[in-house]
Amino acid sequence: MTDQEVRIVRSARRARTVSIREKDGYLEVLAPATSTDAELQPIIARLRRRLEGRKVKRNLSDKDLEQRAELLNRKHFDAKLAWSSIAWVSNQDQRWGSCTPAHGTIRISHRLAEFPPFVLDYVLVHELAHLIEPSHNRRFWSLVKRYPLSERARGYLLAIAGEQREGDM
Ligand SMILES: [Zn+2]
Repeated sequence: MTDQEVRIVRSARRARTVSIREKDGYLEVLAPATSTDAELQPIIARLRRRLEGRKVKRNLSDKDLEQRAELLNRKHFDAKLAWSSIAWVSNQDQRWGSCTPAHGTIRISHRLAEFPPFVLDYVLVHELAHLIEPSHNRRFWSLVKRYPLSERARGYLLAIAGEQREGDM
């Protein structure tokens, strides 16, 4: 996230809503006249994250994802894996990634694009490993551990998901 300068513009015409937009290289926040800086801080932080998320989403390319997967395939699976498609999806709220081994299709949640690359790599390796082993059994985890940062990435995702999303990863 960039540390863009924020300018707050208060207006009596705004009753309650706060909005944020990029203008001439800074972030303009339109806020109700009575709002205080302290009230606005958490709202601004949230709107900034959303704005940033939208930007990241626009830049997502399935081709980049494919290349990343190819690289991991060479590095950790002797380039032996084959799949039919790897794509970003934005309708996957419950899971970071999914794999349908029978069809060779892998889907990756767009939310991962906002995380450090080693986390995305972990999810890719996880889904690639499902091409060999569909279940989360011992064989599966030994495949995943070929990626040296897998434990760290799992910790990262668990911390983000909190209690909402235990399970698949
Ligand atoms: Zn899995």
